[in-house]
Amino acid sequence: MRVTTLLRALLGLKHTRVLGFRFTESELVVAVKPAKRSSFCSGCGGRAPRYDRRRREWQHLDVCGLAVALEYETWRVECRRCGVTTEMVPWAAAGSGFTHAFEEVVAYLAQRTDKTTVSTMMAIAWKTVGLIIQRVVGRLGPKDRLGGLKRIGIDELSYRRHHEYVTVVTDHDSGRVVWVSPGKDAATVLRFFADLGPERTAQIEMITIDMSNAFKSAVAEAAPNAQVVFDRFHVQRLAHDALDKVRREQVRELAGTDDAAAVKKTRFALQKNPWNLSQSDHEKLADVQRSNKKLYRAYLLKETLADILDRRQVNVARDKLGEWVGWAARSQLPAFQKVSRTIRAHTEGILAYVATGLSNGRAEGMNAKVRTITKRSYGFHGPWSLIALIFLCCSGLVIPLQHRVPDLTVLPP
Ligand SMILES: [Zn+2]
Repeated sequence: MRVTTLLRALLGLKHTRVLGFRFTESELVVAVKPAKRSSFCSGCGGRAPRYDRRRREWQHLDVCGLAVALEYETWRVECRRCGVTTEMVPWAAAGSGFTHAFEEVVAYLAQRTDKTTVSTMMAIAWKTVGLIIQRVVGRLGPKDRLGGLKRIGIDELSYRRHHEYVTVVTDHDSGRVVWVSPGKDAATVLRFFADLGPERTAQIEMITIDMSNAFKSAVAEAAPNAQVVFDRFHVQRLAHDALDKVRREQVRELAGTDDAAAVKKTRFALQKNPWNLSQSDHEKLADVQRSNKKLYRAYLLKETLADILDRRQVNVARDKLGEWVGWAARSQLPAFQKVSRTIRAHTEGILAYVATGLSNGRAEGMNAKVRTITKRSYGFHGPWSLIALIFLCCSGLVIPLQHRVPDLTVLPP
């Protein structure tokens, strides 16, 4: 058997001829060429006349731990539609220095494991991983993820230490991310509805969002018939922030007294959920109850709001929420008076949460997963690699790994 035949069987490249090989200090370099005689444009796939050529290399999967590169003198072609482009090669994507097989292993690993493992195993920089998964998601992902949407969540996500944002749209029914784009303003959300188109937008029944004006106005404009559900996390956040404001005011007001120090120490006890309180937390809260009426009132307001949101009967929740709004308005705590006005203005959307139980669920499920992925994206360049990683990990994409068997039809007996 000829060595080139053996190499062809080992490398497993379709529509590719193996011409020869050489060893360098670091790798095995295999000379290849496309099996087809004519050249085809990498832009549109059409046949295109040749122009000139230059030598290029592609990193392929290791063979028995030995690095393997493919080399070929690629033609530049003059396409009628695309102008001067490079010819399409069967083993790699246009513009990539890696073979399809290599890129798919990288994507498979990036879907499942940490940065260091991917970079070390594949001997490439993490930034390069970002570019590779952009290509793989573009190649293997569905061209359209927006079919059949009925109940969706729109949420913003910060990355790069909270300096930049992407907007993420999740399908509540499939649990998959269906759309991601840089930005978090109304224009970003309107772009989503433009991609969705008027017919499919009309099919949307329910949308969970936060209470930001950007999201509210965009949804009201683009999908006026959809039921808006305000995300529970954001509603509770308002009360958390108001409570913290009251606590900080009390620390200032009591400055210099023993009570100030006592109030300062209550921060975490006040924020915790009741079922997470330790014995010492309970004691601190009992102290607050005795010594600081304002702060204790703020604490009760926060806890009661959480209780109301736990309810499942809309009529009961409606009454309780109305009582809460009145209580907060009379609380003489400016921070809670402001929350009271906000909640009164958003009552229907908040009760829609009670009725449906739908929320963007930052603490659990898909949203938490997306947030973890964002942490892994440090080191990526620009938002597109992060977006590809989100689709790779959160849209149900299956990366088929090749486990090949010898192709006996091309091997001599
Ligand atoms: Zn073309």
